[in-house]
Amino acid sequence: MRACTESVEQGLYTRPAYTLSREDSEHPLILVCEHASRFIPPALNDLGLNADAARQHIAWDIGALALAERLSETLGATLLAANYSRLLIDLNRPRHAPDSIPPQSEIYQVPGNQQLDEATREHRRQMLFKPFHTRLQTLIDERVAQGRPVRVVGIHSFTPVYYGQQRPLEAGVLFGEARQYAQNVLDGLARHPLKVAGNQPYKIDPLGDMTVPVHGDARGLQALLIEVRNDLLRTPENIDRWAGYLAPLL
Ligand SMILES: [Zn+2]
Repeated sequence: MRACTESVEQGLYTRPAYTLSREDSEHPLILVCEHASRFIPPALNDLGLNADAARQHIAWDIGALALAERLSETLGATLLAANYSRLLIDLNRPRHAPDSIPPQSEIYQVPGNQQLDEATREHRRQMLFKPFHTRLQTLIDERVAQGRPVRVVGIHSFTPVYYGQQRPLEAGVLFGEARQYAQNVLDGLARHPLKVAGNQPYKIDPLGDMTVPVHGDARGLQALLIEVRNDLLRTPENIDRWAGYLAPLL
């Protein structure tokens, strides 16, 4: 019989929780891609989703990692990217948020997240959530201690159809305290023929978001979350196009 502190998922999380690129960059920007990966350990059988659903936007932000990597290359900026699916535990939610380990996502039930025991929930926090956020925090701590400027930007993508509704918006700049930084990025994007808006298609919620409020706003640092519609991030040319729009503004 297993001890009550022992998870059924013991031993499954063998790859690192994150990939850190250009750690020693001198650029003030730290790029974060919390929803970079759709990887779920094979033993978890896609958490009971069908194979198609497990490849959709609910599992990851399609195109976001490619865009984040392109921005990191272009600017020479540090990038911290997750190596596991957001469905296991969402790295952009506080650890005790109700949808941290979502029992359903948009129109999809996630059977493998339903009726999870506390030991397994805690195991995911320890294996996936804690390493990612500890690394981000220490990265920021080191630079702040050196008196260096730090800006934190999360790179995300959103689905063009949500609960059956088409979304005409092409990109959003989400912010809490960093109003001027956000406005500068919005003004820069508005010089192109793009449908962009502030705090759409989502808003930063201090109780529902992690990266911007915790690593940025609470520390008095400039922090944004960029959302690009994922049908615009499907080819290398389009990745380059969006990196070209964003790189000079971040
Ligand atoms: Zn996302």
